[in-house]
Amino acid sequence: MRFDLLTIFPEFFAGPLDHGIVRRAREAGITQVHVQDLREFTKDRHRTVDDRPFGGGEGMVLKPEPLFEAVEKLLERSVGDSEGKIPPPGKTAIVLMSAAGRLFTQETARRFAEFHRLVLICGRYEGVDERVAEHLATDEVSIGDFVLSGGELPAAVIVDAVTRLLPGALGNQASTQNESFHEYAGAPSALTGARGVLLDFPHYTRPAEYRGWKVPEVLIGGNHAEVAKWRRQKALEKTRRNRPDLLVGADPR
Ligand code: SAH
Repeated sequence: MRFDLLTIFPEFFAGPLDHGIVRRAREAGITQVHVQDLREFTKDRHRTVDDRPFGGGEGMVLKPEPLFEAVEKLLERSVGDSEGKIPPPGKTAIVLMSAAGRLFTQETARRFAEFHRLVLICGRYEGVDERVAEHLATDEVSIGDFVLSGGELPAAVIVDAVTRLLPGALGNQASTQNESFHEYAGAPSALTGARGVLLDFPHYTRPAEYRGWKVPEVLIGGNHAEVAKWRRQKALEKTRRNRPDLLVGADPR
């Protein structure tokens, strides 16, 4: 999997992608991460990436030319124009970070993990010229119902969520089973909603008693069937408490 991060702040990614699973996956050659400075794809002397909004209003908007040029250079082909749009090569997604995008979920991460290349476009200021969403990006995604000041953190979030799903990225492949938002083995389907997922069950480690708070007895007993039953129950309780929208009767998204 190759990630290209298109940004006006290339130094931003020095920290967030340099730890743990994401770093190891890169070192093992499971992923390649290329940070691309958007200004490198400008043609004017001032390396201009933004301009004032048509129609007036606050702030600046990222111009379309550097973004189209950058993607075309990276893909080594034209994306076309109003006379004829050329889709990206197979297994390539061009993803625009946008507070107004479709919500990025674990399901989106699983879909992206099937691609061979993700080009992630990081917006700034008031956002990005809409022609990028309409004619360049294959996906416009939001990482949640809040507004950030730039697309760099969202892009790092997507690199992380996708990387850990790639074969070999986690030491223990079973780790992406039975975690939050995975189709939960043994989840009672009458209860789980349209998305068919539950949150993770609670985890405990030593000491068995801390400040008087004890680890649930069943986890210490060593009865695997009982442990599995308890975990299902707790996953369901937690989902009901923290994310009732994931359960049946909730609005399917
Ligand atoms: N005017 C826009 C917000 C612009 S924020 C609006 O009201 O929708 C500047 C940039 O930050 C955006 O272009 C986008 O790339 C990024 N961004 C902000 N919030 C985001 C979110 N929740 N998910 C993904 N990207 C986000």
